[in-house]
Amino acid sequence: MARFTLPRDIYYGRDSLAELKNLEGKRAIVVVGGGSMKRFGFLDKAVGYLKEAGMEVQLFENVEPDPSVETVMRGAAAMREFEPDWIVAMGGGSPIDAAKAMWVFYEYPDTSFEDLITPFSFPKLRQKAHFAAIPSTSGTATEVTAFSVITDYQKGIKYPLADFNITPDIAIVDPVIAETMPPKLTAHTGMDALTHAIEAYVSTAHSAFTDPLALGAIRMVFDHLPDSFRGEKAAREHMHYAQCLAGMAFSNALLGIVHSMAHKTGAAFSTGHIPHGCANAIYLPYVIRYNAKNAMARYADIARDAGLTGASDEELMEKLRAKIRDYNVTLGIPASLKEFGVDEKEFLEKVDSIAELAVGDACTGSNPRPVTVEDMKKLLHCVYYGTEVNF
Ligand code: FE
Repeated sequence: MARFTLPRDIYYGRDSLAELKNLEGKRAIVVVGGGSMKRFGFLDKAVGYLKEAGMEVQLFENVEPDPSVETVMRGAAAMREFEPDWIVAMGGGSPIDAAKAMWVFYEYPDTSFEDLITPFSFPKLRQKAHFAAIPSTSGTATEVTAFSVITDYQKGIKYPLADFNITPDIAIVDPVIAETMPPKLTAHTGMDALTHAIEAYVSTAHSAFTDPLALGAIRMVFDHLPDSFRGEKAAREHMHYAQCLAGMAFSNALLGIVHSMAHKTGAAFSTGHIPHGCANAIYLPYVIRYNAKNAMARYADIARDAGLTGASDEELMEKLRAKIRDYNVTLGIPASLKEFGVDEKEFLEKVDSIAELAVGDACTGSNPRPVTVEDMKKLLHCVYYGTEVNF
């Protein structure tokens, strides 16, 4: 039996943040990041609405980008003390991801982080609290997904946690909040959304329920990302919905090795963190060519649906890759890790271990073409030097 799970309610549209007024409960904890929600006034608004709903409100602020195991544990402790019946997570992917993991440790203080690394093995949540998620960026779609990425800085590894228990109860997809994104973040998160939809469409776990969502999201990203990058409001709104549709698709169809590679390279190099969406955007055209051996017709579907034409599936697949590369150029995203600025010596020192970690990533299992450590090493060389995938 297969399962398709989404939040119970998705509120969307300009100023849909006001839906917080209608939550029923006694205490809400609001989990936010480094200050942009506060600076732009959305945090105050959210707190005001929750108070209007008759709730006592506590804040958990300053969740860092790529949240750590330690932050998750601190948040869970704050929740055990305050005993909220609503967890309201607001911001980019990081505070929402962190709040999802805090939720688990709030309800199950005796569980361990190691227990949660096994996908789809979480204890039953909603014994103490329900969860509302409000995204401020248009990419991760964590407001509708069963996933959370937590970083173990001691080990230098990102753990993608996965379980339908952590799919939020409510998502509020308010485009006014996403209008505050700077252009670079708009570019990276938009390409993350495109990668989600493309990986979901070709995933081995794709279904009749996820395919239309994935294709719709891809079309919308192609139609609106460049204008959204340039700051056009209507395009921003379309992108905010497109990334959410992509999230509904990949939460149920899972992802592939573009994400495996992005997870394991993001924090790997001393030259600096590679933003998640930027890493995906760089790797996507290479991985499409690698996967095409098993998923050529699926990529051709995507190309046709996006209005591209070609005499064969292979030509369509190549046109899709060319289109993605054009978008990367428009959005100022480099074509390789070398161009991004990763040091060659360090890359060569680390490539073997990164290849092994990437193959072991939770996203590898649903990739349409199986991948050995040897293949992954070759792929990583291609994305580093910008050379063509021919194996
Ligand atoms: Fe992603």
